[in-house]
Amino acid sequence: MPRKLAQSARKRFGQNFLIDGRVIDAVLASINSSPNDAIVEIGPGHGAITSGLYSSGCYLTLIELDRDLVPNLLADFVSKSPNRCRLINQDVLKVDFSALGTRLRVVGNLPYNIATPLLFRLLEHGGQIKDIHVMLQKEVLNRIAAAPGNSAYGRLSVMIQATSSVEPLFDVSPESFAPVPKVDSGMIRIIPDGSKRTRIRCMDTLTHLVRQSFSQRRKTLRNNLKDVISLEEFGDLGINPQDRPERLSVETYIELGNYITQQRGIA
Ligand code: SAM
Repeated sequence: MPRKLAQSARKRFGQNFLIDGRVIDAVLASINSSPNDAIVEIGPGHGAITSGLYSSGCYLTLIELDRDLVPNLLADFVSKSPNRCRLINQDVLKVDFSALGTRLRVVGNLPYNIATPLLFRLLEHGGQIKDIHVMLQKEVLNRIAAAPGNSAYGRLSVMIQATSSVEPLFDVSPESFAPVPKVDSGMIRIIPDGSKRTRIRCMDTLTHLVRQSFSQRRKTLRNNLKDVISLEEFGDLGINPQDRPERLSVETYIELGNYITQQRGIA
């Protein structure tokens, strides 16, 4: 079976199918779904995680791009329980999440090629999402969870931690998949937090600030933000302009973003 899966996998769809029963059990245990949950699974593939989710009795929305996988997903899940299972055969980046409901629990062994834009998109819909449990490339997971001062700390860390709590769960070795990927993987839990979100006065300003700050990692804040903040303002805010962008905490980026929003009368 693993060899068959490896042969049929499509690289352009980021297909690395889970074949290790212990990892599948660990993924399902971390999600711990129950009958009233509204679960959205991204990239169900051949249903490695889907079967366990389905058995829990939850409401299930499957989003799968590869149309060759659709007939089996329909036969195994949707046709059996059309009242609680549906399938969307579309690119998840084009799916209108606002139409999917509220208190959504988003799960998946993600296609790694779209993981970062997908996470940003999910967080735009953070108000509708209860939690996110996803398998990611370990390197991306490390960037999401990194603390200030760490070499992995950057735009992804700040933007996700500014709006959500983040909990790395466990590592997964390449041999757990067919075909075997070239990278290590890991499972992470991300919980969008409305109280964090409301502290941010203008999300666009924060997004722009963080992008500019990390535009050249080796340069100083002064250099990267010369068009955004004056030397005098750095002084007023108690931020050392000679610091590198990875020195500032998430909290400081939020304060800085709010300061710019207020000073420039943006919101
Ligand atoms: N969940 C299965 C498993 O764990 O064995 C498959 C995981 S595989 C890493 C990623 C899945 O996402 C594949 O089924 C692939 O066809 C699907 N996929 C790839 N790109 C997608 C996209 N843009 N939108 C929705 N699904 C996508």
